[in-house]
Amino acid sequence: MSSISITPYFPFCRVHIYGQSVEGEESTILVRPDKRYKPICSVCNSHCAVIHAWVKRPIRDLNCGAVKVVIECRYRKVFCKKCGSIIVEDLVFFKPYRRITNRLAWYIHELCKVLTVQDVARHLDLDWKTVKDIDKTFLEEEYGQTDYGDLTILAVDEISIRRGHSYMTVVLDYLTGRVVWMGEGRRADTLMEFFDGMTDEQMEKLEAIAMDMWDPYIKAVETKAPHVKIVFDLFHMVKEFNKVIDRVRIDEYKKASETDKRVIQGSKYLLLKNPENYQVIVTSNVFGDILSDEASQLIGGLGFSPSGNIGENAAVFEPSHGSVPKYAHQYKINPCGLLAAALMMLEYLGLKDHAAKLEKAMGDVLVEGKTLTYDIWRDDKGDKDWEKKASSTLEMAKAIAEKIDPDFSKRADAICAKAREMCAWEHLA
Ligand SMILES: [Zn+2]
Repeated sequence: MSSISITPYFPFCRVHIYGQSVEGEESTILVRPDKRYKPICSVCNSHCAVIHAWVKRPIRDLNCGAVKVVIECRYRKVFCKKCGSIIVEDLVFFKPYRRITNRLAWYIHELCKVLTVQDVARHLDLDWKTVKDIDKTFLEEEYGQTDYGDLTILAVDEISIRRGHSYMTVVLDYLTGRVVWMGEGRRADTLMEFFDGMTDEQMEKLEAIAMDMWDPYIKAVETKAPHVKIVFDLFHMVKEFNKVIDRVRIDEYKKASETDKRVIQGSKYLLLKNPENYQVIVTSNVFGDILSDEASQLIGGLGFSPSGNIGENAAVFEPSHGSVPKYAHQYKINPCGLLAAALMMLEYLGLKDHAAKLEKAMGDVLVEGKTLTYDIWRDDKGDKDWEKKASSTLEMAKAIAEKIDPDFSKRADAICAKAREMCAWEHLA
């Protein structure tokens, strides 16, 4: 008879091994309670003398080499006097009603730190849900208790769960990024509950809390921790700042007299006093729009200026004046803003020669002064007879096109006819 024993591999007290069998890649270890110990109630831990029934349950344990190990454990249901009911006895090496040993559960939890739940389930040939539930139980045990130690600067934010139907409040240690606490809802009393868990000493150490501008959180801090500085995050600050700037500008402009209105208009163009000081201005899209509109005054008016929004992967070009719905379908305004936007786009695409041709053509037409639209006569040349002299948008565009390709006019009528047909602009003569 072999003197090798498997007992050391199963160092469980309160039970002893009374048999084993190996079949293929699965080993069954037979285990029953050690009669030297009185059964204990798994609810209140008190000793119980009255055995109600014997039961049996297979419990997965750590694999042994390539062999899957199942412990077939016999145990008792006992009558607990203290609880006043029939309870399963506690055999310590597994949790009642769980189908895996405590040491396997711990192993699963450790694996879950480096593998996905699916990976762990596949590796151990366990149900996905079993793995998830076990890991969750450990996480709750580990992180269920709030660790208020060493907190000086906090960040609080809300996260939306169940597709935005409800929210959770999350408190982070701003310095380490550790999640300190989570609570259901995003009300003032949600956050107050967090502060309620702190000792006076811990509270005193708090210096600041970062948050967005959510009134209930502000109220909670002001109520529970008035000495803590509230810091709003940059994104919300900029958003609110822009709102204020716009509102102030509109309010001031409305209040102003006609003279002041001109001054306000003028003050917006501060940069135009010394444009040579500004080579490149980096700003947000909104301010960029305002500033580029303003800067366009320098080069002969908004009607001539192109604009480009150039990103990492894409670029969009348009005339600074946008679609100017006021003048839509009238064919009165010069096409230079749009053509200059096309010019910028050609340059962006690396088609420098094409861009240069277009630039020269536009310049030539403007200098010749034969085919100019009414807005150029009126604003740029200050000519009172602008109505008589003015060309249409199409005529000016055609003049520019002919500078590039003298044969253009031959095709232009056909192109215009086709364009009208496609757009069905019947009101155009
Ligand atoms: Zn009990």
